[in-house]
Amino acid sequence: MEIVRRGLKRITGQTIRAIAYSNREKYSQQASLFSDLLGTSLRQIVRRGKWLLFTFENSMGALNHLGMSGRWFVYESEVIGQDLASFSKSQTLLVDFRGSSITEKLSLFEKLGFSVEHPPLNALSHGNTSVSSNPVEGQEFFHLNKHGAKISTSRKEVTHEFSAHPFFSPHIQLMFILDGSVAIFEDVRTFGYFRVYSNSQTMFSLPSLQELGPDILDKAFDIKEFEKRLKKYPRSVICAKLLDPKVIAGCGNIYRNEALFLAKLNPFRKIGNLDKSEIHRLAKALVQVGATALNYGGSSIQSFANAEGARGRMQERFLVYGKAGFPCPSCSSVIQKTKFQQRSVYWCSQCQE
Ligand SMILES: [Zn+2]
Repeated sequence: MEIVRRGLKRITGQTIRAIAYSNREKYSQQASLFSDLLGTSLRQIVRRGKWLLFTFENSMGALNHLGMSGRWFVYESEVIGQDLASFSKSQTLLVDFRGSSITEKLSLFEKLGFSVEHPPLNALSHGNTSVSSNPVEGQEFFHLNKHGAKISTSRKEVTHEFSAHPFFSPHIQLMFILDGSVAIFEDVRTFGYFRVYSNSQTMFSLPSLQELGPDILDKAFDIKEFEKRLKKYPRSVICAKLLDPKVIAGCGNIYRNEALFLAKLNPFRKIGNLDKSEIHRLAKALVQVGATALNYGGSSIQSFANAEGARGRMQERFLVYGKAGFPCPSCSSVIQKTKFQQRSVYWCSQCQE
């Protein structure tokens, strides 16, 4: 997530000119909140564990989780329309046209990938057919489908079928058209989300964020706090609690397997049986794995990509993760794999006691 956050950093400070979102309920039910984001700019993106927290100049906020397969892409506006596959399901696009001239509107269309070689200029200024929704005063809505875009406005009652230059992947859930770029949130398996809050303070005080344990990527990782939180579960096995964000934030399945190997600890030992030096060894290994991942651009397993769509190189560095049946890099014994609580655990039975 830290890699993603860094990739998205360059869109901060830019004004949101338009937002397209999937008609999936978790996005469409936020229509009025999305509408409130139009015209404001993105102030900051911070990370807490596996969440990205967006704050906007108008004091709104948004909580983003990538779920299993969420990815962000940032494109310079010119390339939109060339790189993206055709879209296949209905999506809604909110555009802030308040105060825009026809020229500005057309340039927005161009950014969106629509063909404007034969712009029906008068269709933008004089309506000719009916309105299919109830737009907010002063805003214009596009209704996108595989045939093109329909535009409607409360002032002029315009609708127009544009010849679409297809740019929507069916998996795109959210798209921000900003001053200098387009940021796209794609989520194939749809476990991710982007929840908008009318006040960012409400978001920052969510219990799930307040309760987070020390962060694996924090330079000042608090070992004592980690130890205290871990020891609340003496009867749990160590590998289970490394995936609990209340114990350690930002640690996924890859990190926990790699860290347990580095710390030479058997994943199934009871926490109550670990001594102080073992817990400290584990904490150091976790921080080391986190730092390595940052250096190598994160891992790209399970369709992870950083914000620019580039694949990370972390997976070339795995010691045990995904290496079942291969020799241990340290003692050459065969790496073991087992499913535990639906997640794969990899370890070397010789090195990890
Ligand atoms: Zn070994």
